[in-house]
Amino acid sequence: MRVLLTGGAGFIGSHIALLLLERGYDVLIFDSFANSSSNVIKRIENFLDNKALKYKLRVINGDIRDKKILESIFSKCVKENKPIEVVIHLAGVKSVVESLTNPLYYWDVNVSGTLNLLLTMKEHQCYSLVFSSSATIYGLSSYVPILEEQKISPITPYGQTKVAVENLFYDLYKSNVNLWKICSLRYFNPVGAHPSGLIGEDPKGIPNNLFPFITQVAIGRQKTLSIYGDDWETKDGSGIRDYIHIIDLAEGHLSSIDYLNTSESCLEFINLGSGKGYSVFQIIRQFELSTGCRIPFSIESRRDGDVAVSYADISKAKRLLSWTPKRSLEQMCLDGWNWQMKNPNGYG
Ligand code: UDP
Repeated sequence: MRVLLTGGAGFIGSHIALLLLERGYDVLIFDSFANSSSNVIKRIENFLDNKALKYKLRVINGDIRDKKILESIFSKCVKENKPIEVVIHLAGVKSVVESLTNPLYYWDVNVSGTLNLLLTMKEHQCYSLVFSSSATIYGLSSYVPILEEQKISPITPYGQTKVAVENLFYDLYKSNVNLWKICSLRYFNPVGAHPSGLIGEDPKGIPNNLFPFITQVAIGRQKTLSIYGDDWETKDGSGIRDYIHIIDLAEGHLSSIDYLNTSESCLEFINLGSGKGYSVFQIIRQFELSTGCRIPFSIESRRDGDVAVSYADISKAKRLLSWTPKRSLEQMCLDGWNWQMKNPNGYG
């Protein structure tokens, strides 16, 4: 089965690519490399020392907003008699902070880009899609754990773009309920790395997210972690999030493909998280305990666009996808640290 994996060279995409290849899928990675490194591809190929597996991977450099290139990819696959049967769509921009200052760019890439992809899929009768949505769409959620039916109220342009795409899915599905099969996966906070330490998270510039910032402090690339507020309405005053091991998250995508393959037309919005909430202080403590590193920190003011608490109810994912996250917070720390130690400067 041939899968188009947009954004396949990124942190999440590279882990999904590896699992797909290991399970025998034919994988087309489509990536602009604007936020990822071409070294990722070499790492994936090196990991797959079995030649037969390597030849199942193809990489195309391109921008999701370029409809011509998307069309040529789909057409070429049809000509090869190996049409794209399912798309995992991860390509997009994802910095909450950047989206506040550059909303047009976020709408262009995340919404127009997805529209291009859907138009191209329809033209080529490809109707199966797994999409990377985000827990950020719940915004100031009124209760935890967060259920999929909970009110959607994004508080940032980034979140708005994810909601816009989900609304588009809804219209699409309604327009012909016998056609599309879509899983929109609402990610919580993916962290950690592949246990080999060959692929992992390599943010460009100063990391926005907590976990890569911690590993960069531990390796000496950053001096001190800034904690964005110790006055939140939580037990210890720091923000609470749902951290999920990247391999668990990647496995959720493979389970989604299985689900789509065995389903009639469907549109499902599904939380992917660990179902547990940890505060920033708890993460620091666990990281220090697991790795023996010390993480110096300072307390700073709250960050724009943040919420106090966010963690998932994952019963829908368990029920529908027969999927369950298996890796502990300690494993997330150990694997994330293993990747950082083996690659102090990331892929560079
Ligand atoms: N956070 C922090 N310092 C950082 C980055 C994040 O204190 O350098 C906090 C942030 O305020 C939030 C939690 O860590 O409470 C997770 O932040 P992250 O950006 O990783 O994920 P998101 O907020 O997008 O869920």
